Amino acid sequence: MKSIIKDVRAKLYTWKGPIQKIHDNFCTSAADLLNKENINADGMSTFKFLSWLVVEVETNDGHIGLGNAALSPKPCKSVVDNYLKPAIIGEDIWDYEHIWQKMYRQTLAWGRKGVGMTAISAVDIAIWDALGKVAGQPVFKLLGGKTKSKLPCYASKLYSQPLDTLAIEAKEYLDQGFKAMKLRFGWGPKDGAEGMRKNIELIRTVRSVVGDDVDLMADVYMGWTFEYAKRMMRLIDNENLRWLEEPVIADDIDGYADLKASCRTPISGGEHEYTLFGFRQLLEKKAVDVVQFDTNRVGGITQAHKICALAEAFQIPVIPHAGQVHNFHISMSSINAPIVEYFPFWPVEIGNELFWYIFDGEPQAKDGHIELDETKPGLGIELSDKYLKDFDIEI
Ligand SMILES: [Mg+2]
Repeated sequence: MKSIIKDVRAKLYTWKGPIQKIHDNFCTSAADLLNKENINADGMSTFKFLSWLVVEVETNDGHIGLGNAALSPKPCKSVVDNYLKPAIIGEDIWDYEHIWQKMYRQTLAWGRKGVGMTAISAVDIAIWDALGKVAGQPVFKLLGGKTKSKLPCYASKLYSQPLDTLAIEAKEYLDQGFKAMKLRFGWGPKDGAEGMRKNIELIRTVRSVVGDDVDLMADVYMGWTFEYAKRMMRLIDNENLRWLEEPVIADDIDGYADLKASCRTPISGGEHEYTLFGFRQLLEKKAVDVVQFDTNRVGGITQAHKICALAEAFQIPVIPHAGQVHNFHISMSSINAPIVEYFPFWPVEIGNELFWYIFDGEPQAKDGHIELDETKPGLGIELSDKYLKDFDIEI
């Protein structure tokens, strides 16, 4: 039986509701190195994104698959509308590998990474959601089924803030049953030795609350130089982190490899890397101890599934970036995915929580675990109408 694509719709959701103000030194980022005051006014200013791309793939047998992407949604919409939609109308969704190759090869000259691959990812995820709906099965069953009864997850927030409120937030996750959590650093190279001390204080504050029986991770979000990271690692190596995330920019693969080889703390990365080819390079160069692609950037489920297999061959675990149900289905079907990231529901702040407001059915953590509903075909989410008044939607 065939399920022919008859329409592809890219919708741009832009939040216009209330926004929670963030602290200074909220999070390090790659833009911190730009030595100009107006850039550094707020740590995430250049990374805030208050819109989201939703893609619907409709088939001739009455199914609508839902995919989405958060990275640069406005140009991604243009890529879907102008390049991907015309390329895949009339294709059978069961030829998903052919469809992926068609989208990849027809955008290769300018696509490959970033906007081009993110747009492909959103379409590919929608195709997999539709496949599950046609088959009457959850997506993870099409990928290999369950490799665990439920997914352990870690609370991912704890942005840099005054230590007293940081401690309160960590205690909340502990009380909710999380056995792992991740914090963000607030200071980088321009903040000197004082900033290094403050970074370590963030780790010690959370550790003092959660004790030694909880895994603790810390994220740099590309905000350090290699040289600064080396100095920080002398201190961090004493703090028993499960991993240090994105210590340097994604293009500094040799920097990753050097840190991984020379430090005791495991190094993670990959949320800004793309496709099987990008991860082959990271793995062959022994650049990371943990692979963190995001399914909605890396090339969708079709690519994520292959990268899981590649990482398994290197015996490097996959722990996808961001919660979200497409990453959960990938992790459920891979023996090599021991835990998943989980962004707690939160007032709108920097944008990475917007999926909670756009979709119904995103699994909520219970006792530090995610369960996937086996009775829901596809990815198990639908568009919500609860917050529609807070969004502008461009179709
Ligand atoms: Mg990260």
